[in-house]
Amino acid sequence: MPKKVYGEYQVVRCPFCSRQSTAKNSQGIPVCRHHQEEVFGDIQCSCGEWLELKTGSYGPFYRCHHCGNISFQKALYLKSLKEKKETPAQNTPRSLKITNEEEIISIDDL
Ligand SMILES: [Zn+2]
Ligand SMILES: [Zn+2]
Repeated sequence: MPKKVYGEYQVVRCPFCSRQSTAKNSQGIPVCRHHQEEVFGDIQCSCGEWLELKTGSYGPFYRCHHCGNISFQKALYLKSLKEKKETPAQNTPRSLKITNEEEIISIDDL
């Protein structure tokens, strides 16, 4: 079966589970059907400001009063960093990892 490549087209993934998003939650964030009821809590910028959720023609994004617009992906990353700090014992879901940290850390030894 030939593999279909979508080229430039970016599939918007559900931020909760990384599945392809087919719906939107009440905040206008593209999510999958299963997470349609989920909402995002406040996300704090790396500068300490609370980010404001916006939706533009390219989809949802966050805005910091100090730093300007922050991409949704970046905001999720900030959120995952914060969650990591607050709940060190809990594993951050892999799907929320935005950086390529995973690629640097080899899991071959596991
Ligand atoms: Zn989902
Ligand atoms: Zn900021």
